Amino acid sequence: MDEFNALVEEANKVFLENFDDSTWFGRCIFLSWYCDVGTCDFCFRSTVKHKIKHAQSARRSVASIITDAIIGKNLGWRIEFLTGGYRIFSFPEILDIAKKVSQVYGEKIWTNLGALSRDELEMLSPYVSGVCASIEAINPELHDKICPDKPIGPYSEMLKVAGELGLKKSMTIVVGLGEVQEDFEMLADFITSHKLDRITFYALKPVQGTPYTKSPEPEEYVWWIAKTRVRFPKLEIMAGLTPKRSSDYAELLLKAGANALTKFPAVKRFGSEQAKEIERQAASAGRKFHGSLTELPAVDWDAEVDPLPFDDVLKGQVKEKLAQYIEGMKKNKH
Ligand code: SF4
Repeated sequence: MDEFNALVEEANKVFLENFDDSTWFGRCIFLSWYCDVGTCDFCFRSTVKHKIKHAQSARRSVASIITDAIIGKNLGWRIEFLTGGYRIFSFPEILDIAKKVSQVYGEKIWTNLGALSRDELEMLSPYVSGVCASIEAINPELHDKICPDKPIGPYSEMLKVAGELGLKKSMTIVVGLGEVQEDFEMLADFITSHKLDRITFYALKPVQGTPYTKSPEPEEYVWWIAKTRVRFPKLEIMAGLTPKRSSDYAELLLKAGANALTKFPAVKRFGSEQAKEIERQAASAGRKFHGSLTELPAVDWDAEVDPLPFDDVLKGQVKEKLAQYIEGMKKNKH
């Protein structure tokens, strides 16, 4: 057996010794399509085209954010995190949205909203169980080149304070930005020193208008996940299905020790061949997939909205949006 297959096999073994055989889909809920940082050189939000299309004023309506949450909850998707919109929405608005989304789910949620201050974390803590730091690249030189306006220091500080407040902690990392396998030790140090509970991996998806032209090979992406699983047996590992055909290697991501999958346009591609393939591959990895990317449950959607503690205007808007989204998902399926 070659080195790579031996690593994946070991990672799968470590996973099964520490977790049950379930998996799920983790959905990001975006607050806006615009980013106020907007200078990370790999990101579609840094491209001129994106900035023109999504001017700073382009915020998602609260009704559509809540609609996302209601659909996700009923399809058994977990919230990966609430993200985006920092400095687009005011902090009181963000706080209100986090509260409303946690009310829909009936539990505290995760957020990924930039480097939050102690006061902000304290205010969010009734609705938020964990915070994520978008580190993207762990090698400091590479990081400063790629994300010049998103330094690691304030995120480290946020994670420290989050720990003091009893919140869980997570980070994101994008494989394919230029890190080499020797940099793994830097990642391991970061996870250890910040006592992280979770990490989310993404494979770089090259975007036109950025300096990148190719995604990492699946083996390269999977290597980082498997290494992390072996080194950190109890860490929650999420794996993004970033590149176009990544549904083809969902099985490999799970066998490499990822707990669950994220970054798939689950509403837009609901019931699609790719969605079916993800579920099939989860099964062939020996995992029970909780929730569904392919079957709409029989839900009285209005009855999901009625008991929520929101005003009638908002409830009306959510019902309208829900009807549109569900209609679209049914059409995708056929
Ligand atoms: S990576 Fe995050 S912070 Fe950087 S431009 Fe993209 S959305 Fe903004």
